[in-house]
Amino acid sequence: MVVVVRLGRNEKCVLCNGLITKTYAAMKEWSISGHLCGMCYSAKISEHYPGKHVRMKSD
Ligand SMILES: [Zn+2]
Repeated sequence: MVVVVRLGRNEKCVLCNGLITKTYAAMKEWSISGHLCGMCYSAKISEHYPGKHVRMKSD
């Protein structure tokens, strides 16, 4: 479920616009183009897949 695209590069999260150190790829069904930080990814996961528990490391 968790897709880590790249490590150690400063990119901006498309949702919160914050710098992210660990980049997560948005899933197609989320209609998001770009990358997410761990927090937003985690939020999207629980939004789209309630009931599924995905353990995340905080950024
Ligand atoms: Zn974010």
